[in-house]
Amino acid sequence: MTPEGAWSFFAAFATMLGLLFGSFLNVCIARMPEDRSVAYPPSHCPACGHNIRWYDNIPVLSWLILRARCRDCGLPISSLYPAIELLTGLLAWLLFARIVPGPDALDLAHFAAFGVYLVFVCMLVAQTFIDIRHYIIPDEFSIYAVPLGVGGTLLLGWLGYPDALPWQQSVLGALLGGGSLALVMGLWWLVRRQESMGLGDVKLLAMIGSFLGAVPAVPVIIVIAAVAGSIVGLPLALLTRRKLSLALPFGPFLALGALAWLLHGPVLLSVYMGYIGRLYAIFGS
Ligand SMILES: [Zn+2]
Repeated sequence: MTPEGAWSFFAAFATMLGLLFGSFLNVCIARMPEDRSVAYPPSHCPACGHNIRWYDNIPVLSWLILRARCRDCGLPISSLYPAIELLTGLLAWLLFARIVPGPDALDLAHFAAFGVYLVFVCMLVAQTFIDIRHYIIPDEFSIYAVPLGVGGTLLLGWLGYPDALPWQQSVLGALLGGGSLALVMGLWWLVRRQESMGLGDVKLLAMIGSFLGAVPAVPVIIVIAAVAGSIVGLPLALLTRRKLSLALPFGPFLALGALAWLLHGPVLLSVYMGYIGRLYAIFGS
């Protein structure tokens, strides 16, 4: 096999891994808000309760073959299931291309980095859909995962992954991520006497900081989340005549910012710095 062929093989494998993880995320999204176990009982049809056969549980394909209906009762299966599987597969492919950019990078350190950040991406996907549906962010995918972020960073440094963060950045990222949003919430409470965000958002940004580091990741992610949240949220708040903070959850926008930073960090930073540079050229001279 040529080096390029080997890279394509691993990229395809990474994508399939993403599809399978997506299938498991569907279980997490359905069960975690109700405090049910994600391991037991095995997957079953929510309408008739029949267990799903292994050959009917292949990501995306099974849904297409069954034409979106349960084999036992014939009732429709939500298109959200294959959509989440496809999304997770696509993100896994993008992540692989970002972390293992070519045949030269096919080694243990880069594979480990892909694994650590794939777990991170999966937590972002799961909490996004749980937050949209239930307005909560499970602790398992936010504050409880901070040790995972710090541990993953330590592991990647030990394995010699070239882009590994110093572990201090990871610890500081958790503190700055949680601390900065907590500060905003506190100030808002003092001025307006009302809640601006949920405590879930604070715990989520602490988790994000532990995986992506403090600076520049956390401030850039807050800016992206605030801009994207306003673009989507302001029209929605006007239409529904509700307060912006009540019209939509903030967690998915933090997840969007984190994904953008993880996949395109250097590009985003150069755009951001270029913009600051131009402002400086206009007002600083
Ligand atoms: Zn059924």
